[in-house]
Amino acid sequence: MRNAPHLLLNTPDIEIWPGGLLRARSNHDARLLARASHVLRRKCDGRYLAVQLPRGLMPLITRLPEVPGIDHALSLLDAHLSLPARIPPPQGELPLHQLQHRLDQLGLDSDDYAAETGLWLIAEPAHLVLAGFDRYRRPLWLTRPAARSWQRMHDAAAASGIAMDAISGYRSHDYQLGIFERKLARGLSVSDILTVNAAPGFSEHHGGNALDIGAPGEPPAEESFEHSDAFAWLQQHAADYGFHMSYPRDNPHGIIYEPWHWCWMGIA
Ligand SMILES: [Zn+2]
Repeated sequence: MRNAPHLLLNTPDIEIWPGGLLRARSNHDARLLARASHVLRRKCDGRYLAVQLPRGLMPLITRLPEVPGIDHALSLLDAHLSLPARIPPPQGELPLHQLQHRLDQLGLDSDDYAAETGLWLIAEPAHLVLAGFDRYRRPLWLTRPAARSWQRMHDAAAASGIAMDAISGYRSHDYQLGIFERKLARGLSVSDILTVNAAPGFSEHHGGNALDIGAPGEPPAEESFEHSDAFAWLQQHAADYGFHMSYPRDNPHGIIYEPWHWCWMGIA
């Protein structure tokens, strides 16, 4: 395998995962995933579309060429496989027009929502790096600087006897759209859903710089995190690593107090 298994190549419709990180859903999948250098995964439903094997690409669904976005993903994979390992992956952010179209379809007015909350649309990065694993042993994807800073901060806290773990890092627009689509299908209204979930596209997690942090043994994403040693340590030291709490008490966005949610913003 030529490429280190630590990059997620992102496209609007399809993610290209390095081999060895995705869980098999059948024995057949398990055999193929074990040998794959890369796996193409559809973002809207998580479906595995194809695996890159030593002898070439193997489709996992029928009519692979008809899958939206497949040409773009395959040309990106080809370029990645043919480039020397040192050439950097695609930089920058993905365009937002596809998200805006989906928001329109859901009947969600993103301009109104932005005006009400003071939040803004956040693009997905063109690639993410593996920053370790979260509490649930899922791969933790972040931008490269956020990943490096999280690892340094985590290790510094550990050296002071403070344990902390990641609950969740990067999440795609499709992930958040899926939450809305499932709830709408159950008969909830968009305004009902917005009381609990951020509108798709407006979560800091889309940008790959935000991280939900927990204390091992404590429940995830609960206000009680503010009483943990980990939180006290973060309040004192997180800024040294470029992390800031995005939603303190009485924040202007109308978002509940989230002592667990920290975003890497660079070091001033
Ligand atoms: Zn969060």
